[in-house]
Amino acid sequence: MCGVFGIFGHPEAANLTYLGLHALQHRGQESAGIVTSDGQQLFLHRGMGHVIDVFSNEQLAQLQGDSAIGHVRYATAGGSFLKNAQPIAVEYSRGSIALAHNGNLTNAEALHEQLEERGSIFQSAADTEVVIHLIAKSTQRLIEDRVADALSQVEGAYSLLLLSEQSLIAVRDPRGFRPLCLGRLPTKDGGAAWVLASEPTSFDLIGAKMIREVEPGEMLIIDAQGVHSRRPFLPAPKRMCIFEYVYFARPDSKLDGISVYEARKNLGRALARDHGVEADVVIPVPDSGVPATMGYAEQSGVPFELGLVRSHYIGRTFIEPQQSIRHFGVRLKLNPISDVLRGKRVVIVDDSIVRGTTSRKIVKMVRDAGAKEVHLRISSPPTNWPCYYGIDTPTRAELIAASHSVEEINQYVTSDTLAYLSLDAMIDAVLKGETPPPEVEPSLPGGAQRHLPLATGRDRFCHACFSGDYPVSFTPHPRQRQMRLRDL
Ligand code: SF4
Repeated sequence: MCGVFGIFGHPEAANLTYLGLHALQHRGQESAGIVTSDGQQLFLHRGMGHVIDVFSNEQLAQLQGDSAIGHVRYATAGGSFLKNAQPIAVEYSRGSIALAHNGNLTNAEALHEQLEERGSIFQSAADTEVVIHLIAKSTQRLIEDRVADALSQVEGAYSLLLLSEQSLIAVRDPRGFRPLCLGRLPTKDGGAAWVLASEPTSFDLIGAKMIREVEPGEMLIIDAQGVHSRRPFLPAPKRMCIFEYVYFARPDSKLDGISVYEARKNLGRALARDHGVEADVVIPVPDSGVPATMGYAEQSGVPFELGLVRSHYIGRTFIEPQQSIRHFGVRLKLNPISDVLRGKRVVIVDDSIVRGTTSRKIVKMVRDAGAKEVHLRISSPPTNWPCYYGIDTPTRAELIAASHSVEEINQYVTSDTLAYLSLDAMIDAVLKGETPPPEVEPSLPGGAQRHLPLATGRDRFCHACFSGDYPVSFTPHPRQRQMRLRDL
């Protein structure tokens, strides 16, 4: 999972991108980067760690120009190394371009192999670099045509931003797996800059107004002439990632007309309705479990308490893979409040169980703090299948729900009872978070073009990690790409 931010036409482009990335930090903490353009050349800075670690005032001052794109990364394709950090910027025959990508390409391995056989040299293991090569090799003349040509060859999930010396291009894949929003920010001279971000929370922070979402399959080209909307791809059924609502997106975001906060509260209400249990308190696994727990408490009448406190100051999480740190993982992040839990029948609400190891540690932590009973409630169905569209999930063999029944998982995590939401209940709860769409001024880009009928019900979302119903097929490539050059 990653976050992208872009701005065109503002003298404070680098500083605003820094702030915009800050509001997207929850989408990736391994690396961050910004590329700016002054109309003549691009300026790049990337680094490992949180946004606040990567950029100093001096570095931001060197990022010149009035347009920029930025990226925060959580590794999905490629490992956690600086060379895989984004944006990726290159020079090619027509100038310079930089690319920031949220999502995952399902045919990247095959394309990578074909490109290498034709002489391409790769610097990173990130699938984003495949797109860069396809753009550079395109025979089209205009940059937007080259981008459309390149993306017509890739499959999978992408919400991406591309910066050239003169333009900013935003594209969302035809199914719209990952969100991408368009906004506008007034400038001091009475004009307005265009802004783009994975989530509208970035707009709130910098004082920009949300205009609308980039539609699935839409390309926006922003340059000195204004904004132009194109639809260069064959239409496909919209399949927004439902796990954005369950876990990834910030609760203060509204995506595709659905309030993430309301969706999560509805998930908790549904859990209480379908899987309520006699209890003294209900507690969240913070932070993502908080709204669902509020919904559970409201529906069931069981008092909401904060039984676990999360530390937000763990710092540069890319050191996590070290075994010595991982050992302390849950303790570093969560600590129980014994006075809330001692002698109580406790319901814990969490958003998912992946391998089961973290849930087991949390249940033990709550029991060690004195809980009399521990009932685990999960605000999504069992995670049975891996994600191939940009979320870092382990292989199917490592997903506990792929090989264990709910009761077997209950025994493994040592809870007294365990229950998940059904697929239908999850989809219903998320859909109930929908609010009427805002009016879009016809004069704004795409304002007269929002004609795509919304898919309804379960067809509106991707839910493959729960159902195995993959909207875009994925065949593992026989060759697993490994970078053998480590730039430390
Ligand atoms: S497989 Fe799951 S996590 Fe991946 S895009 Fe689909 S719903 Fe989202």
